[in-house]
Amino acid sequence: MNSYVIALDQGTTSSRAIVFDAAGCAVATANRPLPQHYPHPGWVEHDPEEIFEGQIASLRDAYLKSGVKPSEIVAIGVTNQRETSIVWEKATGKPVYNAIVWQCRRTADFCSKLKADGVEPYVREKTGLLIDAYFSGTKYKWILDEIPGARKRAEDGRLLAGTVDSYLIWRLTGGASHVSDHSNLSRTMLFDIDKLAYDRQLLSLLGIPEAMLPRPVPSSVEFGRVAPGIKGIEDLAGIPICGAAGDQAAALFGQCCFEPGLVKNTYGTGCFTLMNLGESSVRSTHGLVTSAAWTLGGKTTYALEGSVFNAGSSIQWLRDELGLVSSAPEIDRLAAEVPDNGGVYFVSAFTGLGAPYWDMYARGAIVGLTRGATRAHLARACLEGIAYQVNDLLDTMRLDAPCPVSSLRVDGGASVSDLLMQFQADVSRITVDRPRERETTALGAAYLAGLSAGLWDLEALEKMRVRDRLFLPSPDFAYERLLSRWHDAVEKAKDWEK
Ligand code: ADP
Repeated sequence: MNSYVIALDQGTTSSRAIVFDAAGCAVATANRPLPQHYPHPGWVEHDPEEIFEGQIASLRDAYLKSGVKPSEIVAIGVTNQRETSIVWEKATGKPVYNAIVWQCRRTADFCSKLKADGVEPYVREKTGLLIDAYFSGTKYKWILDEIPGARKRAEDGRLLAGTVDSYLIWRLTGGASHVSDHSNLSRTMLFDIDKLAYDRQLLSLLGIPEAMLPRPVPSSVEFGRVAPGIKGIEDLAGIPICGAAGDQAAALFGQCCFEPGLVKNTYGTGCFTLMNLGESSVRSTHGLVTSAAWTLGGKTTYALEGSVFNAGSSIQWLRDELGLVSSAPEIDRLAAEVPDNGGVYFVSAFTGLGAPYWDMYARGAIVGLTRGATRAHLARACLEGIAYQVNDLLDTMRLDAPCPVSSLRVDGGASVSDLLMQFQADVSRITVDRPRERETTALGAAYLAGLSAGLWDLEALEKMRVRDRLFLPSPDFAYERLLSRWHDAVEKAKDWEK
C-alpha cells in the first residue's frame, strides 16, 4: 500500500492543499484565493468562515485530483499565516469578529503605549519578540475590548481564541482539540519561549483569560482526527492531524535546516530569513526576533528571524509602476545585459526599513545615477538591492548567533533568478542552495505530520531533499567595496519621511 501526507497551507492570500507521496513529491495541488477585507485604512481582516471553507475546498480538490484512497493518507499537517487572530464561540464555533490579519495596524497605538511604559525589555526577555501590532496578543485584546460582552463571555469560559492553525485544527476535529504549536505561540507576544507556557504577567497586562487560549503542544504529535460529517471531506474522517507550524518555521523545516547555523530565506513579496539556533534561544541585540521553530521528540529548536519588507515587490514596482519590464522573469534578462550595476543602488524602503535599521521613516531611493545609467542598470540594482538587504540580515545574524552561519537555502518566487542567487552568494560569501521543490512551507508541514505518523525520520527527510542548484561565492569578488557603497545608499534613504 502507498502512503501519502496532505499539507494544508493556509496563507494570507490563498488556502492551498498539497498531497505528497512517501518520497516527498507533490502529486496533487489545489488552492482557493482568500478574500481580503479592509474595513478602515490600515486595517486588514479575513472572514474565518472563508478561511475554513477555502481550506476545505482545496483539501477536497487536491484529494480528488490525487486519486489516492483515504486509507492511504497517513497524516495531515497544517501550516499557516502567522499571528492572524480569531476569537470564536466555544459552543457553536461562530467567530465573534473577523480574523484580524497579521498586517493589521489597528493596535499600533496601544503598542506604542506599551513601549512608552517600558514593557519592551520584559517582552523581549520572555517572548523573544519586539512589541508590535503584528503579534496576536494585542489583537485578542482588541476583540475583547471592542466587541460588546466579549470579555465577560471570555471570562465565563464561553469563548475560545487562537491563531489560524488553532482555529483550523479545532474546526477539523469538530471542536475536540483546541491546541497551538510552539512556533505559532511564539508569535503571540503572550508565550514564554523558554518555559513553553503562557506568561501570566503578559496575559494579565493584556487582560486575556488563559482559559480561552489554546493548549501549547509540540509541532509533531497527534492533535486529533478529522471529525466525521465535515461537508465535502466526509471520506477523510478519522485521518490524524499530526503536524503544525507557522509558515516560516515550516519553510525552515521543509528546507531540512535541522542543524544550527543553517539559514533559509524566502524571496517573496517580502523576504523572511530564519536561522536555526539549535537549542539556544539567544536574544538578538540588533532587532531580530527569536522564536521556537519546532518541538520534536521533546527537544525545542529555536530560530532567529529577520525580514525585508519589500523584496519581490520592488520588481513588481518596476513592472507595474515604471513599465520597465512586462514580467518578473524579464528583469533577469534585462539585468544580465550589463556586467555590473554601473554604480546604481536601489534601496526599496517603500514602507521603511526593518532589521537591522528599524527606520519606519526611511523611503525608497535610487542613487548613483549618471547620464550613462540604463534600464538594465536599474533592473540590476533592483535585484542586487534585494540581495543586499538579505545580506544585512545575515550579517546581523552573524553578530547575534552563537554559531556561524553555514549555508543559505532559498525558496520563494524570486529565488528562480540565477542572477540574484549568484549575487547573493558573492556578496554574502555564502553557499546558496536552491532545492527543486519550492513549496517548502507545505513540505515542512507534511514532514512534521509524516514524522509523527512514523512515515519518515529526520535522516530520511534529508535524503529526500533534491537540490536544483548550488551557487558558490566567486573568488576575488570585490564585495567589501560594494557593501560599503550599499550602506552609503541606505544612509540616503533613512529618515526621509518627516
Ligand atoms: P508571495 O508568496 O510573497 O506572494 P512568491 O513567493 O510567489 O510571493 O514570489 C513572488 C515574487 O517573486 C514577486 O514579487 C515577483 O516579483 C518575484 N518573481 C517571480 N518570478 C521571478 C523571476 N523570474 N525573477 C525574479 N523575481 C521573480
